[in-house]
Amino acid sequence: MIRLLLLLVLALWPTTCEGAAVQEVRGKVGGAVQLTCRYDHLLPVKGVYFQKKNLSGLYELLVNGFYTNSVKDYLHDEYKHRTRVNRTERSLDFWNLKASDEGHYKCFLMPQDTLKDYDTIFHLTITADYSIPTVTVQECSDHGEGALSCELCCSSFGGYPLANLSWTVLEDSNDVLLQEVGSVSTADKHSGVWNVSQIVRLTCFLTLKHEYALATYLLTVRDTKQRQILTKYRLSDHSLAVERGRFKHSWIPREDRVCGHCKTGEVETEVHFLLHCPKYEHIRNKYFSQFEEEESGFRALTDSQKLTVTLGEGPSAPTAARYVHECHTLRDSE
Ligand SMILES: [Zn+2]
Repeated sequence: MIRLLLLLVLALWPTTCEGAAVQEVRGKVGGAVQLTCRYDHLLPVKGVYFQKKNLSGLYELLVNGFYTNSVKDYLHDEYKHRTRVNRTERSLDFWNLKASDEGHYKCFLMPQDTLKDYDTIFHLTITADYSIPTVTVQECSDHGEGALSCELCCSSFGGYPLANLSWTVLEDSNDVLLQEVGSVSTADKHSGVWNVSQIVRLTCFLTLKHEYALATYLLTVRDTKQRQILTKYRLSDHSLAVERGRFKHSWIPREDRVCGHCKTGEVETEVHFLLHCPKYEHIRNKYFSQFEEEESGFRALTDSQKLTVTLGEGPSAPTAARYVHECHTLRDSE
């Protein structure tokens, strides 16, 4: 008999629910809600069913209800111990809610002595509060040049629906680079709540301040363009890979800032550019002879001493300016 009635319910559904306003109900995971059938007649009621819409869009899952006979044997296992029907109120108490309980429900109400029936459609929304996110520091490394990066993991548990973690850098964001490393989201099998975590790499940069002092090259190098270029290299205000990789938007570890103009695999520093890079060998040969003539013993100097000379410290500043300008022009031309 009950089976027959259920079939009847299904057959009638498309016509009986037409135009029915959906009642919005909100519940929390672990919490309870009450669904009350809409019914404004005085006729006694012989039966009420609460059914859940399945994935096919049909109200086929019997949550609970009553009829002249007991319907207990027909209840879906999922709801047997979490629901109760109040005959007088024509309502359904639903507790120990799970995330999977979210969805549409229908109350199908049958008054006595009439063929007319009454439906109420409910939309149950389930939420669960995420735990306050915790941040743990996983690994830090110092890249030199004032760049320090740490991997941070942020985790939050027991929330619903699935949410994304997002990071905000509050301090002076020009000096901080945030890169996402990976995210993991897992749902609890029983309650359906989500545990989410995300790892980011945060790199902080100390702004390096340069000393501006009146150097003699400013007086001895007469060519304006050459003087400007020399100044840029003296202040590390150039586009060599070592410097470009320090910027927030293009930051890469120092060891990866290799020279793109040769195959040595060396980091493109001022020393590499001005003293080692094979690309400028022919220019270097010409000018290093001049440096040797102007400052005897130049070729025997260490790299850092040579760099000082080629950056215009000392009497060879005009030669240095021409040398740097010529290398710079070649580098920029390709
Ligand atoms: Zn090179």
